[in-house]
Amino acid sequence: VLSTMQDVPLLISRILTHGSAIHGTSQVITWTGEGEPQRRSYAEIGARAAQLAHALREDLAVADDDRVATLMWNNAEHVEAYFAIPSMGAVLHTLNLRLPAEQLVFIVQHAADRVIIANGSLLPLLAPLLPQLPTVEHVVVSGPGDRSLLAGASVRVHEYEELIAGKPTAYDWPELDERAAAAMCYTSGTTGDPKGVVYSHRSIYLHSMQVNMTQSMGLTDEDTSLVVVPQFHVNAWGLPHATFMTGVNLLMPDRFLQPAPLAEMIEAERPTHAAAVPTIWQGLLGELHAKPRDVSSLTQVTIGGSACPPSLMEAFDTLGMRVCHAWGMTETSPLGTVARPPASVVGTAEEFAYRLTQGRFPAGVEARLTGPGGERLPWDGESAGELEVRGPWIAGAYYGGQGTEPLRPADKFSEDGWLKTGDVGTISHDGFLTLTDRAKDVIKSGGEWISSVDLENALMSHPDVTEAAVVAVPDDRWGERPLATVVLREGSTADFATLRAFLAAEGRIAKWQLPERWTIIGAVPKTSVGKFDKKVLRRQYAEGELD
Ligand code: ADP
Repeated sequence: VLSTMQDVPLLISRILTHGSAIHGTSQVITWTGEGEPQRRSYAEIGARAAQLAHALREDLAVADDDRVATLMWNNAEHVEAYFAIPSMGAVLHTLNLRLPAEQLVFIVQHAADRVIIANGSLLPLLAPLLPQLPTVEHVVVSGPGDRSLLAGASVRVHEYEELIAGKPTAYDWPELDERAAAAMCYTSGTTGDPKGVVYSHRSIYLHSMQVNMTQSMGLTDEDTSLVVVPQFHVNAWGLPHATFMTGVNLLMPDRFLQPAPLAEMIEAERPTHAAAVPTIWQGLLGELHAKPRDVSSLTQVTIGGSACPPSLMEAFDTLGMRVCHAWGMTETSPLGTVARPPASVVGTAEEFAYRLTQGRFPAGVEARLTGPGGERLPWDGESAGELEVRGPWIAGAYYGGQGTEPLRPADKFSEDGWLKTGDVGTISHDGFLTLTDRAKDVIKSGGEWISSVDLENALMSHPDVTEAAVVAVPDDRWGERPLATVVLREGSTADFATLRAFLAAEGRIAKWQLPERWTIIGAVPKTSVGKFDKKVLRRQYAEGELD
């Protein structure tokens, strides 16, 4: 029997036309650092996205499948690009502006980007790279910044506002194949070279619906979401697409990502929801202690990207901001799990433990655990193995480059097509994931595994510790042992003996797992998306810089 349903493709243009018509008065608010923020309605964003698509097609001859990159902060123009580029049939490529120059060059060349839309404030970063980017023909500049930096570059330079001015405010969006490429994002290379993940219209559409489910972020048009997670970090976790489905107002911080302006914009614009990695929240917490603000509007905070330390969750709870922990990767669009406790434990002593897990798998994500010998492990909350996932918004390969087959490296994809996440953990009988570590970060000591995350969380629950990162270092007797690098609160006199006693107390950490190597550092080095950069710590230790 054939289905009798209409075969309507799931397209980004559909999300755009829906949002700009049905939620036309919802707003994208961009922080400007001084005076009033910029406010643009969804209807205006829709009109300007149409103008941008006309300009790209008619003036820059952007063809179907051409890659159009963005080197931009979170702001209204970036949202316009998010919708215009895929909707017209081209491919949006978000560039991570914090990557080292050589990685940016690698990524732009690999994707063969033809156009880069850049914020003016990022021209000092972009201009010196252009001689190494032969595929780039056009640079479109938006917002304040010194244009003279582009003088002499062998690209055509356009002003965003001039380019779109006078163009028709409607576009006859093509009926594309929902499986066509819509956007691409390279992994931030915490481990190894960046690899390109290419999302389809269909995967983004389905992922957006998942983000909107009550058991995920569950926001409505009564909400305003402060999107601190960059638009270049896995599509800002799907928020811009999801919010255009539901009319949630977006509060975009642009380049003002330091704790003080974040606190200021929360007080002024009163968002109800915010999303970012733990290090951002740790910074904000410090700021709020130093200078209390009215942040009472913010009742929901989505934390992911790295494990949320229990101490951070408790501190936010105390401030009335309820943390929701989530796990994902560039390869998973990113939403893989969300920690909403089951009804049976809500209001009980068990609830907090559930909230600290990475969360529960939604219907669109299938999961399995694989043991060291390739065997399937049970969901018993105890058997730890590598997490593998499968689903309509999970990558099945990496981009191989133009005209090249997709790449399916055996360490990243199983023979039957599942994504090997490189994350190690357990799954409970009711489908809650607890990650113990990244496979590459786990400390292999005398045939046993020590979770670096457990040690870090225990350390960070000490009142004098603001940050702690633990890495494996070579050891003659045990193979590897943990090295604890600790950042102390200003004025603290805590020493290693105190911290060691703290870890050992109340059975926090088993005795054989206690680190015997310690060092106090000024700050933990961070990756381009704000995670602890353990690669750097391992290198510093090897080079004798951490003694
Ligand atoms: P990169 O691998 O370059 O850091 P991603 O942002 O794709 O870039 O990182 C995905 C990884 O981040 C996951 O595989 C996992 O190791 C880690 N991660 C994400 N969310 C969490 C979380 N809630 N708890 C622990 N680890 C997390």
